Amino acid sequence: MIFDAPVPDHVQLIPPYVAGRPIASVAREFGLDEATIVKLASNENPLGMSPLARRAIAALAEDPARYPDPDGYALKQALAARLDVPADYLTLGAGSSELLLVAGHGFLAPGRAAVMAEHSFIVYLQAVTAAGARPVVVPAVDYGHDLDAMLAACTDDVHLVFIGNPNNPTGTFLPKRALTEFIAKVPKRIMIVHDEAYVEYADPEQRVDAIGLAKQHPNLLVLRTFSKIYGLAGLRVGYGISHPSVTAVLNRVRPTFNVSIYAQAAAQAALGDDDFLASSYRTNREGMTMMTEAFARLGIPTIPSQGNFLAAKVGDAAAINLALLKRGIIVRPIADYGMPEYLRVTIGTAAENRTFIDAITEIMRSRQTT
Ligand SMILES: *Cc1c(COP(=O)(O)O)cnc(C)c1O
Repeated sequence: MIFDAPVPDHVQLIPPYVAGRPIASVAREFGLDEATIVKLASNENPLGMSPLARRAIAALAEDPARYPDPDGYALKQALAARLDVPADYLTLGAGSSELLLVAGHGFLAPGRAAVMAEHSFIVYLQAVTAAGARPVVVPAVDYGHDLDAMLAACTDDVHLVFIGNPNNPTGTFLPKRALTEFIAKVPKRIMIVHDEAYVEYADPEQRVDAIGLAKQHPNLLVLRTFSKIYGLAGLRVGYGISHPSVTAVLNRVRPTFNVSIYAQAAAQAALGDDDFLASSYRTNREGMTMMTEAFARLGIPTIPSQGNFLAAKVGDAAAINLALLKRGIIVRPIADYGMPEYLRVTIGTAAENRTFIDAITEIMRSRQTT
């Protein structure tokens, strides 16, 4: 017997999320030692988590038999002080991808539509289809968002627009001025989601003041996460910044106890660890230069990236990915993002980058000679 009652059409349409392969799974399949595997597939922080976060988890006095604070009071106070926003501008999520889904359910419904760019995060598409709404995917220009075309796509049924900045999986970054003008021009009934999962890796000079814009524009929702530079991907915690009239909607939709006591405590500690943030930023900048130069030496084009990853046009990405896996290196093929010739490679530690570069150099050479 199987469960064969039809599920709703819009549920059938939700695209699957293809995650970077876990280390244990690759070790099993290729008969490798987990300890030797280099994972550069999911844009995680290669330095691990902040030591202050580790200590906060170890010292946690709260009893896990009790539910977490559903309002995340302490974490929101810390964020409010750090970001200079009132605490009622904040919404906490089990990662910011949960908040993308929450925004979809909060602002979309059958008969409504949402605009996003080609080659942008698959969760945008999931958020729209899961709410029974219609996705409008606007062709990219040079792998980045075409803001004019996205504005033109804002027809009467559109209620949500997704901007990934820096964008995953391409790493592209929007100029401050163009983005500011775009936000001002989008009709006020449309919620703009500005996804800043990688903003802490971007050049500070080039970052738009999205929080300042959120104070000015009640139709702007800024999303950030502790999964990337803060190194807490496994704990699941992210946050939104928006006018309280928007947080009220998000809080109605979000699961009440969505952020665990461990995630709340670790995030609060990580937020204040400036040394860890600075060394993570530096490690990424140095690694980005090292990887970009290595790809250039091999004649492999890359898309300039402001994130902690690089999209590289390797050609036969499936074959090269397999060759890398056999050598215990996990990267992310992005054919499901409409980029079948590319691999997305997370910037690792210097040693991990070196291992990757040696392997890809060998693989490219052996492909030339055969
Ligand atoms: C990683 C990522 C997120 C956030 O992921 P969470 O782990 O759910 O916080 C959001 N947007 C993009 C584009 C990402 O790559």
